[in-house]
Amino acid sequence: ITILGLESSCDDTAAAVVRRGVYGRAEVLSNVVVGQNDLHKAFGGVVPEIAARAHAEKIDLCVEKALVEAGVALAEMNAIAVTAGPGLIGGVMSGVMCAKGLAAATGQPLIGVNHLAGHALTPRLTDGLSYPYLMLLVSGGHCQFLIARGPNDFSRIGGTIDDAPGEAFDKTARLLGLAQPGGPAVQTEAEQGDPKRFKFPRPMLDRAGCDMSFSGLKTAVLRARNDVMTDDTIKHQDVRDLCAGFQAAVVDVLVEKTRRALAIYLEENPTEPALAVAGGVAANTAIRAGLESVSSAFNVRFTAPPLALCTDNAAMIAYAGLELFEAGRRDGMDLSARPRWPLDTSSAPMLGSGK
Ligand code: ATP
Ligand code: FE
Repeated sequence: ITILGLESSCDDTAAAVVRRGVYGRAEVLSNVVVGQNDLHKAFGGVVPEIAARAHAEKIDLCVEKALVEAGVALAEMNAIAVTAGPGLIGGVMSGVMCAKGLAAATGQPLIGVNHLAGHALTPRLTDGLSYPYLMLLVSGGHCQFLIARGPNDFSRIGGTIDDAPGEAFDKTARLLGLAQPGGPAVQTEAEQGDPKRFKFPRPMLDRAGCDMSFSGLKTAVLRARNDVMTDDTIKHQDVRDLCAGFQAAVVDVLVEKTRRALAIYLEENPTEPALAVAGGVAANTAIRAGLESVSSAFNVRFTAPPLALCTDNAAMIAYAGLELFEAGRRDGMDLSARPRWPLDTSSAPMLGSGK
């Protein structure tokens, strides 16, 4: 089975080809990503209108490149998988329209993929995890625990009630005059800092369950920064200590909530228990180390996909499409783009057009 995947839900335009032979693991034959950072830089964030236009302009080229790099003709695809949401609606529509064109031209079926399912299924592609496994999705826009039981069967057992950790890292970096994206910059400064000097809150640890909150943390950082600042300047060591204190708080919250999520997950008696982490924040070495140690304390395998497959890409969409195709999912020309689409199947019905 060979699947072409398209992704255009945020600020990366991407196309990829994934194949699974009769036996064994799926293979990524090509994975093309064209970013838009330069286009949005001057605006301090992704501008939806600019993103949609850039996706529309770049997606055909991405598809062509993905096919050439894979060495497979369009006619050889079994289906065209495309991110149908959630995301910036203009971008998602660019991808869906392109996919419909390809499907109409070739007669191949469409498969609408949930972007979050793409992220959540990636550890099956990279590490061959078996269902059910626990997933922590932690990025600039998301933070949630999912139990993955199948390509269309996820339970959300908790998540952030406000900011995502990546957002908190980015805002903290901005407060301290560090470069964007803030995650890597804060991590680097934290390595030279004292995590105990500033006492930052560990929000919601006193509350049961796996929900988290990160927005209060940046307010705490702001207050602490103002306390140590004189004449609008801040000492480098203060920046380092603030970063270390902030990062330690994020790690503590994620690790404790992961402990609780693991306890819930293990009640299902999985045969090959595993925790997978995905999303850009999974690149953080302190967070990784914390998750690794809590996993080993529970005797649970820990995996994190390589960064190129952790951040937005189309290989994960093609792979999710492959699993859905194998499970019999086919969408029609009435496939629609959805700005919101929660992954948890208890709150989100399947795309109406499924047959
Ligand atoms: P989403 O894909 O969920 O819509 P996104 O595209 O913003 O959101 P990603 O590209 O997965 O998310 O990740 C980017 C985020 O990861 C940024 O907020 C960035 O600061 C953060 N990040 C990257 N590296 C690190 C790191 N080493 N430590 C902490 N955060 C990091
Ligand atoms: Fe994403």
